[in-house]
Amino acid sequence: MSENVIIIGSGPAGLTAALYTARANLNPLLISGNEFGGQIALTNEVENYPGFPDGITGPELTELMKQQAVRFGTRFEQDHVSKVDFQKYPFTVDTENGAHYEALSVIIATGASPRRLGVPGELELAGRGVSYCATCDGFFFRGKEIAVIGGGDSALQEGLFLTRFASKVHIVHRRNALRAQQILKDRAFENPKISFVWDSMVKDIRGNGTVSALDLVNVKTGDESELPVQGVFVYIGHFPNTDLFRGQLEMNEENYLTVNERLHTKIPGVFAAGEAHDHIFKQAVVAAGFGCMAAMEVEKFLADLEHWGGYEALIKNGAR
Ligand code: NAP
Repeated sequence: MSENVIIIGSGPAGLTAALYTARANLNPLLISGNEFGGQIALTNEVENYPGFPDGITGPELTELMKQQAVRFGTRFEQDHVSKVDFQKYPFTVDTENGAHYEALSVIIATGASPRRLGVPGELELAGRGVSYCATCDGFFFRGKEIAVIGGGDSALQEGLFLTRFASKVHIVHRRNALRAQQILKDRAFENPKISFVWDSMVKDIRGNGTVSALDLVNVKTGDESELPVQGVFVYIGHFPNTDLFRGQLEMNEENYLTVNERLHTKIPGVFAAGEAHDHIFKQAVVAAGFGCMAAMEVEKFLADLEHWGGYEALIKNGAR
């Protein structure tokens, strides 16, 4: 028996797609990845998701979205998709745990992952002072001096969060102007525990077993300096999790999936929602909106499939 719809990914896009397809009686199967929740689940404080005037933590928001999707019958599998085949129909989806599924439609909500600096020491000291998740690791840096790399919303938001633990947070940015929203800039500039290192890039991360210092280079003067810190949190943007679809779906030069305004990929029945295709907005609420849109398009697609009596006939007559 083929699944009506398989949703790959458990961030706001995937969970909203699950809610909508479940309420449409499509009995969706959501394959969550090895860790449940997307980037939002790693965010400590979410202040701009509508409906939560006092803010909410990312893990709580994820749990509430999950409960809502479960309420209408979504089935969840905690597993990692290792292979898809969109060249044959029904589509097939295989997982690391050895499960094999057939699906009449697929919603790709695989989101994005933190970009690495790519400097010496980063890999070697990952989990030993190098982190990409303040919510997960902030606690380990009580009373310690740390650096945050980046000048966007994530760097400032997570840098501010880290001031609850660290004695000092150095925000190292490659320019002298921040990309982050004004409200976060204001808070960061006002926070006595935060200082900025402008126009600087990390050359390498040093430490014997755990992080002890960063070597920095000033991009304007070429001057090199050492910043003694015991931790470094990297927030320099994200890359979309789309490797799995290489060769089967169209992508842009940054590997974001190409979709039309109704989130259809080039393959009828395969849709994308969230940061796997959205390289512009990258907000949880927008990802949730995309999840809703993809789910509604799946409903139409499955109705058309039934109407035309099969995939080939649907393609011949044109999906809506
Ligand atoms: P981002 O907006 O892409 O910012 C990445 C930052 O890292 C930029 O300041 C960039 O510098 C810097 N950078 C990039 N590559 C670098 C490198 N190789 N070395 C050093 N620095 C580098 O990423 P983000 O902050 O993770 O945010 C992603 C999206 O999520 C954004 O759309 C953001 O608005 C959203 N977000 C929203 C909230 C919120 O609403 N509260 C919170 C977090 C994230 P340049 O500025 O020079 O390019």
